Amino acid sequence: MPRSLQAWYSRDDLERLAASGNTVGGDVQLSKLARLEGLVHADRCSPVAITLAAEHAPDGRLLLRLALRGELVVTCQRCLEPLHWRVDECPEWLVVAAESDAARLNAEAQPLVLDDGRLGIEALLEDELIVALPMVPRHETIDDCGPLAQNLGDSLSDAALDRTVESRRI
Ligand SMILES: [Zn+2]
Repeated sequence: MPRSLQAWYSRDDLERLAASGNTVGGDVQLSKLARLEGLVHADRCSPVAITLAAEHAPDGRLLLRLALRGELVVTCQRCLEPLHWRVDECPEWLVVAAESDAARLNAEAQPLVLDDGRLGIEALLEDELIVALPMVPRHETIDDCGPLAQNLGDSLSDAALDRTVESRRI
């Protein structure tokens, strides 16, 4: 069974991982994740440490748990300066045959349909990070922001930024 983060894991590999109680883990350099490009300053991010564990849910279905921890560098939308954004999550997925099975899920786990019957751990991590990234990253308060926000003041208030996002969605 593969032990590499880059490998593709078949359903059988994942079943064996669950049966063994072992985990697969390591550090992922974000510069290798092409879809994150443009969302983060990949060259300035620390690697994200991940651990994938598998187990069988009470109903026998495969449950995957991905612990991910790291610090991403994104652009604050208020001052356009880099913003360090910590990620520390442990999402879970239930492996299902089709999205339509999702309706029968009652756990917190999200449904996951294996792509061509296999799983790419880095692709799963990349999906999770894209979803987890704030839509409008910004420093916690305007006082934490760089000079641009300090100079523009109220026009970059939280309410103004949120209105901008709303109008983009329409
Ligand atoms: Zn800022």
